[in-house]
Amino acid sequence: MIRSLQIQSHVPTRVVVGVPGRPDRRLTVNRARTERYDRARTSLAATSSEDAREIPSSTRAPDSLTVDEARRELERLNEELAHHDRSYYNDGEGVISDSEYDSLRARYLAIERLHPSAARALGASARVGATPDDQSGLEKIAHATPMRSLGNAFDIAQVEAFVNRVEKAHGEIGVELCAEPKVDGASASLRYENGVLAYAASRGDGEMGEDVTRHLVSARGVPTRLKAPYPAVLEIRGEVHVAEEDFRRVNAERAATGVRVFKNARNAAAGAMRLLNAEDNQMPLRFLAYGWGAAGETDADANAPWVTQSEFLSSFLPSQGFDAVPVLGVTSTVEGLMETYEALEIARPSMPYEIDGVVYKVNSVALQQTLGADARQPRWAIAHKFTAMSAVTTLRAIEIQVGRTGALTPVGLLDPVDIGGACIQRATLHNFDEIGRKRLKVGAQVMVERAGDVIPRVVSLAGEDLAEAAAYPEDALPLPEWLPPSKCPDCGASVVRAPLSASKNAMGTIVRCTGGLKCPSQSMERLLHFCSRDALDIRGLARATLETLHREGVVKTPADIFTLERRFGPDSGETVPTWWRYTGVKNSKGEVKEGSDGLKASAVKLFQAIELRRRGVPLHRFIYALGIPNIGAHTAKVLATHYVSLDAFRKASMAAAKGGSTSLAYGALTHIDGVGPVLAQSLVDFWGEPANASIVSEIIANGVVVLDAAESSKPSSTRQPPAAPLSSATSAASTKPAEYSAPGANLTGAKILFTGTVDGYPRETVHRLIESASAEVVSSLSSKTTCVLAGSGAGPAKLAKASALGVPIIDAADFILALDRGEPVSIPPRQD
Ligand code: AMP
Repeated sequence: MIRSLQIQSHVPTRVVVGVPGRPDRRLTVNRARTERYDRARTSLAATSSEDAREIPSSTRAPDSLTVDEARRELERLNEELAHHDRSYYNDGEGVISDSEYDSLRARYLAIERLHPSAARALGASARVGATPDDQSGLEKIAHATPMRSLGNAFDIAQVEAFVNRVEKAHGEIGVELCAEPKVDGASASLRYENGVLAYAASRGDGEMGEDVTRHLVSARGVPTRLKAPYPAVLEIRGEVHVAEEDFRRVNAERAATGVRVFKNARNAAAGAMRLLNAEDNQMPLRFLAYGWGAAGETDADANAPWVTQSEFLSSFLPSQGFDAVPVLGVTSTVEGLMETYEALEIARPSMPYEIDGVVYKVNSVALQQTLGADARQPRWAIAHKFTAMSAVTTLRAIEIQVGRTGALTPVGLLDPVDIGGACIQRATLHNFDEIGRKRLKVGAQVMVERAGDVIPRVVSLAGEDLAEAAAYPEDALPLPEWLPPSKCPDCGASVVRAPLSASKNAMGTIVRCTGGLKCPSQSMERLLHFCSRDALDIRGLARATLETLHREGVVKTPADIFTLERRFGPDSGETVPTWWRYTGVKNSKGEVKEGSDGLKASAVKLFQAIELRRRGVPLHRFIYALGIPNIGAHTAKVLATHYVSLDAFRKASMAAAKGGSTSLAYGALTHIDGVGPVLAQSLVDFWGEPANASIVSEIIANGVVVLDAAESSKPSSTRQPPAAPLSSATSAASTKPAEYSAPGANLTGAKILFTGTVDGYPRETVHRLIESASAEVVSSLSSKTTCVLAGSGAGPAKLAKASALGVPIIDAADFILALDRGEPVSIPPRQD
């Protein structure tokens, strides 16, 4: 087998799925997505009326049809839909995809709406499922109360229209709605008489179903007896389905014994329910309840003992031993509904059962009853379907992308295929485990799905390849496609498999490149992290500047930052170093004026900021700055306290990397309080990669002083002055000993007044930092005030009063920064 490994670097894949806490943005995303889908969907049917005469009516826009054409088209569509309903509900296997079916039905409804005189009574618009045929041999059962279907919405406008209809009927805006997942299985009704399961019936055509008691009596989520008190007659409606894990296992068993495999879990559930002998069924069935039919003393009595849909789902059903669909949310706004929709769409791949949308239902049972139903569906509920569109094509190659954080992601390169109007040539394969789980191989037919804006994904094998692959035993030897490469395709560093996070509940593993500091795909993100506030905090090296420097090749690794001045500074011999423009002071038009004084000044300011850091970096900040996966600011402090010096930390980690996981050195790492095996492995992976170790050496060789942990916490009098001199506005103060001085920091008893602002530090944060050094924040100025911290825009009157009272005035920016970094601060004495 030829395996194609294509390397494409520097193109990290990013999926923006919405901005938490900003529903309006989510709404925009969704609107765009659903509108696009809608256009694609209706374009299947729409053709301009000018072309009407040349084009058969089956492909013309509904509004271009004459009444006669509309009647014929409705008849044709009705028959086609009835045919698909029979094969879907009775034979258990749809011939067309769900979205194709939805398009046909949408066209039928549009023609019916535009040409009411051509509409047939009780055609496709009123049909529920299919009348059971005699194939199964199961007894027929008439439902005491009809089992209806649901209306569909495919975009926000249709959801809005539903909400408006409900509000109009209710006469008030703001009707509470309950959102639930739409489970993709086969519906059934469980009838309890005097608390005992009398029978279970499939939906059939809504009036007449089949007796599936023997199939459901042992299904999970179906109690055979109820606990008193209960309504004398109770019909519980729900979805019979097969869990994903059961589906995969049973299908593999079937394939191994040469039995036809099911295409999906829905078909498996529907097929299992139509077996005459329930014992022949290997698929464990489960029942998830979502509604009720009769609930009271008699069939006609609808006095359910619950008041809301959400109470029924989350309280009544579980108390009686039913499994129920979860309540995704109760809300009275369209935005709230869209949030549940978007959240469920994201969670969809990890759901234990198949779902195909969200159902919104009026929460009040009383209002449900007032709104009632039409022949096919209730007026108080609607299904908002996910907009997946799929196609089958060939997987030609697997390309590996390296993301900005070093994660290796496989991407499928496909024979171009049109899905919903877009030409798809690439689709995500998620991760290497998924490739194996789906038994994918290069050259095979695959099903590709595209849902709105989300990146297309390879769902499964298709056609004969699907049947063939299902015959592989579970423990089959992996194909080369299923294994991650041993080296990063971008930088050649070794690749490791690590948990997604260090937390105990980490879901799954991730394949990562270990060449953190040198890997071109990752280096930009690493540089930013290195300079960030909790790391080296190099002001002036913000994203825009760093990105330019990185792109131009001026700064490739953190070590390069410390040679900038030598290479480009005033003493570099360059008269007007081109590099200076990247630090850019721009004019009002956004242009950078080369060689201007302002430009030089900003470059010099940046050199100074770098120089300040070079003179002394606390060890914990340096460790954090290295960006070792899973080593956050807190763990960095733990490691700094434990090892005290960079040298000791480096030696211990490298010894563990060399000795491997059974070595004493490795064991020693895992014995540090707060460092578990996951963190230890991250350290080992990082230091085990020679490129990382040599960049750290280079940083040190470029003059960076990493302060020992003990050293950075000694009082200021016993150590070098801090890199950033703490300025005091009162020059005389520096000749006297400080009244308060605090390493990282203890200012007990000091009363501090803060005025003005400090960039990047909200007022509450400033107060918190002062208080965490045991000082008191005061709001009025008196002779008892220990000092005034003056930020930018500090009130001149306050400063004048402080001077008059002899209260020292201190530059707030430096002071707060030092407190934040845990560095020493000092307050000069009063000037009496
Ligand atoms: P459809 O089969 O597309 O017409 O959709 C209607 C069917 O969705 C119902 O008959 C139910 O079998 C099924 N369904 C799945 N989940 C739910 C739910 N949470 N509430 C109501 N119906 C549901």
